Amino acid sequence: MPLPLDYQAPTDLLGGRAILITGAGDGIGRAVSLLLAAHGASVVLLGRTVSKLEGVYDAIEQAGGAQPAIFPMDLLRATPDDTRRLAAGIHDAFGRLDGVLHNASVLGVMSSLAHYEPQTWLEVMQVNVNAAFLLSATLLPLLERSDDARVVFTSSGVGRKGRAHWGAYAVSKFATEGLMQVLADETESQRRIKVMCINPGATRTSMRAAAYPAEDPARLRTPEEIAPAYLYLFGPEGAALHGRTLDAQ
Ligand code: NDP
Repeated sequence: MPLPLDYQAPTDLLGGRAILITGAGDGIGRAVSLLLAAHGASVVLLGRTVSKLEGVYDAIEQAGGAQPAIFPMDLLRATPDDTRRLAAGIHDAFGRLDGVLHNASVLGVMSSLAHYEPQTWLEVMQVNVNAAFLLSATLLPLLERSDDARVVFTSSGVGRKGRAHWGAYAVSKFATEGLMQVLADETESQRRIKVMCINPGATRTSMRAAAYPAEDPARLRTPEEIAPAYLYLFGPEGAALHGRTLDAQ
């Protein structure tokens, strides 16, 4: 199902809400962080490159958005202790958590399975799947206290139909769809946490350029152009999309 890229909302749509965004320093995560903050959310910026997170933090402050927070974390190495510290830090900073966008991912290599480097396979699964599980599990108690929370996972076209040479990335996105479905089923009865997947579609970022080096990036939508689809999911209308897998374009 496509989401509205022309979604317009009042600037206080997410006022008083705290939302964690992984991979917030660049690409889609950066654009979504800025847009959610421009609509009142206190965004928790998680990523592995502190200078990029600081750039997003400064841009939010300059635009007059709600006070953000930075949590540097390398998801390749994140332990249960790290995610527990994150939960405690979010609680101390905001006293609440109303949403998580699992956006950080790595592409790995474009290679046939026969030639896929096993260590790269493990690293892609660690960042794209295992870290999203660990974060979700640790943050659920905080999310359960929200009256209308979201957990949004990031999928891909190759997470719905496998394609040659997409290797661990494609398999990780199938697993992401599965993770979303399991969590959506588990949260179905309490009704306050809504869980879904979004596939951003071809978007002008460094990951896309790495996957399609011969492509003209000018032909692709920018992260800023697709960010309204994410705003829609985190706003009240997104609540109706529990358990669904959605397309930004
Ligand atoms: P980018 O590569 O531009 O951004 C990915 C972000 O994830 C970066 O901020 C990166 O941090 C962060 N990240 C990567 N590894 C780690 C790690 N170990 N720990 C913490 N943060 C990490 O990618 P996109 O913006 O293109 O992708 C965003 C999401 O959208 C991904 O889940 C991707 O799979 C998905 N997607 C993208 C499409 C596209 O066309 N762009 C199409 C379909 C899906 P740093 O900058 O420090 O490296």
